[in-house]
Amino acid sequence: MKKLIVGNWKMNGLRQSAASLVDGILTGVAGGAARDAADVVLCPPATLLAATVEQVGGSAVAVGAQDCHFAASGAFTGDVSAEMIADSGARYVILGHSERRGGHGESDQAVRAKVETALAGGLIPIVCVGESAEQRRAGEALEVIEHQLSASLPDLGEGQTLVVAYEPIWAIGTGDSATPADVATVHAFIREELAARFEEAGSRMRILYGGSVKPDNAAELLATDNVDGALVGGASLKPEDFLGIIAAAAGAAVAAA
Ligand code: PEP
Repeated sequence: MKKLIVGNWKMNGLRQSAASLVDGILTGVAGGAARDAADVVLCPPATLLAATVEQVGGSAVAVGAQDCHFAASGAFTGDVSAEMIADSGARYVILGHSERRGGHGESDQAVRAKVETALAGGLIPIVCVGESAEQRRAGEALEVIEHQLSASLPDLGEGQTLVVAYEPIWAIGTGDSATPADVATVHAFIREELAARFEEAGSRMRILYGGSVKPDNAAELLATDNVDGALVGGASLKPEDFLGIIAAAAGAAVAAA
């Protein structure tokens, strides 16, 4: 399966800094082996969606948003709808990130409603799941993930698909990535759950790993079974780091071929 490398800029980026970041990424992707070996998605803040779509133009790089509201439109001051995101030219949306589940009190039910709206709006949702350090210590990681998957993912209509991102909360932004062995266990579990729920479509859904992915650990993580790509936070803000991760994805694709 072609790897998917997604950059989550979080609440970072102004027009000028974003333009030079995108420029660096486009230059590197255009000149590298990664072009055909990995799909690349940039998720800037909502204010930069349209400009980023314009800048990536007809390149192989796609754009995604970091959240959307669950309603199609209406009196929701400050929110952004899936239709608005699609209208900007973006094709993906990250949903259920732990910074939203935790910081904004988003329940699995809210995430599910957002995923439904995103799918109806023609977007590909990247749905995040993952356990806290406390839950891992208590041996509850798989149970937590099973619950998040069953409660956050809606049934899919004809032609609809989504991406799942496993992001252990304790690994996000800490520099402390999960080990390939732990990632293999959780991704195999997620694959089983997706295949049981969505059958053939579930065995083809991409499962990303996220949590302190960097150029120096990306190759090993991306070569792990059932790791179909990476959701990258901090390292997506530096072109050389993000390009290093994309290059690692290209290497993993070549090794698997
Ligand atoms: C994220 O925000 O989704 C993430 C994985 O962040 P980082 O790569 O910085 O850990």
